[in-house]
Amino acid sequence: GPTIGVLALQGDVREHLDALTASGATGVTVRRPSELDAVDGLVIPGGESTTMSNLLSVFDLLEPLRARLKDGLPAYGSCAGMILLATEVLDTRPDAQHLDGLDITVRRNAFGRQVDSFETDLEFAGIDGDAVRAVFIRAPWVERVGDDVEVLAVVPAGPAAGKVVAVRQGVVMATSFHPEVTGDRRVHQQFVNLVRAA
Ligand code: GLN
Repeated sequence: GPTIGVLALQGDVREHLDALTASGATGVTVRRPSELDAVDGLVIPGGESTTMSNLLSVFDLLEPLRARLKDGLPAYGSCAGMILLATEVLDTRPDAQHLDGLDITVRRNAFGRQVDSFETDLEFAGIDGDAVRAVFIRAPWVERVGDDVEVLAVVPAGPAAGKVVAVRQGVVMATSFHPEVTGDRRVHQQFVNLVRAA
């Protein structure tokens, strides 16, 4: 199978490695440019996007990662990973960097205090059968999608009904939620298939 990196500066790295392995890929951690060079795809996990943005600079990964994304590296970002992959971020710190891998505008911590963390079942494009259980933790949502961006999932009901929470543009995908914590590997499987096809 393909070798897929998990950016390992912060966040729930092990869960992503496990999900990738279960999906037929070889999961490896990425902390330095030489490790980034060696992967066929990259997962950017949840965590704190402004902290991860700092760490990307400190570890000399920011420009190499931008360059590889420009070059067509398949990538999947969850939560803070979605924020980092975006072209535009609302409600962030002025000095926070992002990677311009997905033509979307994302709002950080968009669901508000009352619903800091919540779960819902949703339909996910390309995933048949049971609904996907989506776990949101201080999650962003997507406020604008570019012309080339496909919406994969929206919040089905409640105050945030219709908000876009999963997207794909070519070989780059992102979810506002954390599929790595549920044991359902189908979102990771979709990304592994994307890497295989690339
Ligand atoms: N709120 C975090 C941020 O803005 C993201 C939370 C997460 O990744 N679970 O970066």
